[in-house]
Formats: sequence, structure tokens, C-alpha cells
Amino acid sequence: MKMFFDIHTHSPSSSNQVCAIQNRYPTSDHFSSPFSIGLHPWFLKKETFENEILLMEQKLQHPNCFAIGECGLDKAIETDFDFQKEIFVQQIHFSEKYQKPVIIHCVRAFQEIIEIRKSQKPSQPWIVHGFQKDKQLAFDLIKNGFYLSFGEAILKSTRVQEAISVISMDTFFLETDNAEVSIHEIYQKISDIKQVTLQELQEQLQTNFTHIFRS
Ligand SMILES: [Zn+2]
Repeated sequence: MKMFFDIHTHSPSSSNQVCAIQNRYPTSDHFSSPFSIGLHPWFLKKETFENEILLMEQKLQHPNCFAIGECGLDKAIETDFDFQKEIFVQQIHFSEKYQKPVIIHCVRAFQEIIEIRKSQKPSQPWIVHGFQKDKQLAFDLIKNGFYLSFGEAILKSTRVQEAISVISMDTFFLETDNAEVSIHEIYQKISDIKQVTLQELQEQLQTNFTHIFRS
């Protein structure tokens, strides 16, 4: 039986055929299945971040921690951008110290994220989750060493469908995030777009997963 990999979700895995990485916050206390942990830019507060960083560093040493994140930069919110960058870079340091890949939330700050990767020269993979931009940005990110993760947008957006149709099979992951879709549906759509069988896609994504995430 081939597995489905859902690398970013806010719900528990509903099937033993799905390996899901559930997004957790430092203040969560459920760590019985694979998770990622991070400080999301939406919830950053100057009053609470120091404590959250401390909690995060403890919890990311849990054996079920598969990744740092989601964390990143967001220009659509009012939170001070330099503060966002500072907290993002702290989490990048955790990623390097504990050898965990990073799941990135990025809104209107792609050039800044690319610049930070160039200046930090990390050894760990960075994955831009919920990618819904065009093929040019997809190529730019991949050229700069990023991986992409696609979710619900792939079902509707022709721009995202075009992006995935032109990138190579070893550069991406799939996710449900907080959408009301199953990971099976997203796999099915990608197999249609990439003109591979569902089984071939499953094999490829399993390879991508074991290559990037600690097994
Ligand atoms: Zn999410």
C-alpha cells in the first residue's frame, strides 16, 4: 500500500494511508504524531515571542518533530517587518542547529526570503508552502534552492497548474493546509497535470519526502 504525504496540515491524519505533518505552535501540547513547530508571523507579539522561542526550542527536540514552521514573512499584515525578519532568522538558526527543514509562509516577500537564504547559506532545505504564484516565481525559487508545496490552489488556479506543469518532479511536495480537501484529491489532480500515474506520483513524492525529512 502506497502512502500519501501531506507535509502541512492543521488537522490530524484521518487515514493510516496518509503520513501528515501537523502544524503546531510552541504553546500546543499534543505531540503524539509527526509535527512541525514554529512562530507564524500572524501571531507574533513583542510581549510573548521570547517565551514562545524558549518553548519552541524544547519541543523541536521531540522525536516527532519533522520540521520548523510554519514561519516566514508576510507583508499583508501590520506587524513590523524587521521584527518578522528577526524572528524568522532565529528560527532559521534552530533549523541549522537541530538539522530540520523549514516550512515557509510567505506573502508578498519572496525577494526578501530569497535574499535571506542567499545570505544565511543554510544547509537545510526550505519549502515554500501553499505556493499559488506563477511559473516564473516557481523557477526563481527553485533556482535559489527552495522546494515548493502545493495545496488547494492547484484544483482551481490555471496559473498554479501551469507552474506545476513545468517544474521538475523532485522539487515539490503536496499539502492540505486548512482546506476542506483530501490529499488524495490533490495527488489525483497533480497526476493528471504531470501525466503520470497516481502510483508513479506516490513513489516520487515518497522519494522527495525521505530525501528531505528525517524518516
Ligand atoms: Zn497552514
